[in-house]
Amino acid sequence: MFGSALLEGMVVTAKNLVGSYFDKDRLTTIEYPEERKEPEENYRNFPFLICDKDPAKTPDYLRCVACKICESECPPQCIYIEVKRDENGKPVKQPKVFDIDYSVCMGCQICAEVCPFDAIKMDHEYELSNDNRFTGLLMHKWQLARPNEYYHSIKPTEAAEVDARLAEEAAKKKKPAVAPARPASAPAAKPAAPAAPVTPSSKPVSVVQTSVAGIVVPADAPFTSEQREWLQKFFVGVAVAAPARPASPSSQPSTAAPVAAPALKETPADAENPDLTDKAPWHDSNKDLNQRMKMAGGKPLAVRLYAAMGQTDCTACGYDCKGYAMALASGNEKDPGLCGPGGDETAAKVKELLEAAGIQV
Ligand code: SF4
Ligand code: SF4
Repeated sequence: MFGSALLEGMVVTAKNLVGSYFDKDRLTTIEYPEERKEPEENYRNFPFLICDKDPAKTPDYLRCVACKICESECPPQCIYIEVKRDENGKPVKQPKVFDIDYSVCMGCQICAEVCPFDAIKMDHEYELSNDNRFTGLLMHKWQLARPNEYYHSIKPTEAAEVDARLAEEAAKKKKPAVAPARPASAPAAKPAAPAAPVTPSSKPVSVVQTSVAGIVVPADAPFTSEQREWLQKFFVGVAVAAPARPASPSSQPSTAAPVAAPALKETPADAENPDLTDKAPWHDSNKDLNQRMKMAGGKPLAVRLYAAMGQTDCTACGYDCKGYAMALASGNEKDPGLCGPGGDETAAKVKELLEAAGIQV
């Protein structure tokens, strides 16, 4: 019959109109701002920083160790981090400055994906409108910090998984991770003693590795397939074209008083040594510590120390990976635990190598 489809449509509309007065499920519209809808657990807007204690009670609360991986991976470059230092200029694995410009952030979640320490996560907060177009959405460390309980309240499933994983990693670290140190008289040029097996899954930087080397856009990032393909190519281009980082403490201009990194005793032979360039085969964060140490076995101490580093050149230690290794080997640097991405594994291996070579740390 002519017009029957039109009549059917009108009947459906009438049913919904009348039904909306009696059936709650038919009420899809809410009267914002009087009413608010709870976001779904997987909803994401902008990043925030997790702290394991109450940010209002203690200054050193953040889980973040200022490794700067998120800063370098953020596509629109809206994260700015400065490493905190003690009175001697040594990095203390905490950010002095951690800013995110929400007006630039595109909510892609890449920062959260690449963080090896589960220190940055995506928030549910969406009521951020502001009349200051210049700094109104520039969020500082104290505005970004939220207790872990808050993370549990907005994303209980994800937060529980993260807590379980961190507890498991902490338990693994308590077990002896390296072979006992060799006596100080052992010749330094001998191949390093094989370290205790460390499974790839125990390595906290696995996500970073895939992102830095394999370039990954998160599966749930809000892109079309064309945008995703473009982003992948862009990241690969950036990774290939990126020049070697200087051994300066920060890659961004800083208003803080400059802190001189200890001078390295780099001889011309060192500079030309292919084992000490960023093309050295172990300078690859996709390889685990065991693989890297095997590759550098039998090589000079500076080279083995270089292989023990986290291989991200994040400069949070005050050097790049090669610079830190050379400073330790030359005795200019005494602290074996400055490598954030390498964590306790790297610290233990560095200590073992130095002690075996008769260098006290
Ligand atoms: S990636 Fe590094 S700098 Fe960024 S939040 Fe995680 S620990 Fe902090
Ligand atoms: S969500 Fe994306 S754009 Fe925003 S800070 Fe993180 S990496 Fe940068």
